[in-house]
Amino acid sequence: MVSSFNSEVLMTELMPAAFIGHGNPMNAIEQNRYTQAWTTFGASLPTPKAILVISAHWYVNITAVTAMHVPRTIHDFYGFPADLFAVKYPAPGDPQIAQRIVDVVQPTYVGLDEDSWGIDHGTWSVLVHMFPEANVPVLQLSINAELPFDYHFNLGAQLHALREEGVLILGSGNVVHNLRLVDRNAPGQGADWAHRFDDEVQALMTSDAGALGRVSSHRDYSLAVPTPDHFLPLAYVAGLSAAANSPTSTLIDGYEMGSLSMTAYELAGV
Ligand code: ZN
Repeated sequence: MVSSFNSEVLMTELMPAAFIGHGNPMNAIEQNRYTQAWTTFGASLPTPKAILVISAHWYVNITAVTAMHVPRTIHDFYGFPADLFAVKYPAPGDPQIAQRIVDVVQPTYVGLDEDSWGIDHGTWSVLVHMFPEANVPVLQLSINAELPFDYHFNLGAQLHALREEGVLILGSGNVVHNLRLVDRNAPGQGADWAHRFDDEVQALMTSDAGALGRVSSHRDYSLAVPTPDHFLPLAYVAGLSAAANSPTSTLIDGYEMGSLSMTAYELAGV
């Protein structure tokens, strides 16, 4: 009896985590095989205490976490239909968990953002499918554009403790994201270089995510990652994967318009 009691006490539950390739903002109001995969994944999860999203679209020169009670829905794009601007994601924030994040990653500095950001489309275009009721608190962690891959990877690893506390951590970006090379005549397709890079990332994420940084020397890196904003959310999930000593699995993969990959990775819970 005693040993069984002890093993129960020592058992640590871990909330799953994921990287989602969010792609076109229109995914928020469309149904396709990606959004269906996000819906199914969301429905499979235990209810999180909060959701912390590292979105490609909060790419600034500081590391900060949203700490407002009522984060606004940010429509950070232009030239899209009114239906997309009408989307609201009215999830609450959670200032206490924001403070907890600040504490957990010390001595790394994270600022509390009480009135600047909110919930951008990298977050809500995915969460409207994963958690349509918008009743779980949502926080965002900014991506500090001044700092290199290793900083983001290590900060991701430092967030591991939050998984033990029931926080769902999501990276939202795209592994391959080159808007300059978008080919609107290539729906559902990826260029050869996009396939090569995405395949290499997939090989690492599903075996040894701790080695993800290696892809910066891949021959197709500069085409796939012309700017780091959409790639770096993956560094956080790779850091979480390494911290848990557990590889990720592919949630869904695919390509859009030649130069985007939609690959998503799941880090299983325990
Ligand atoms: Zn985006």
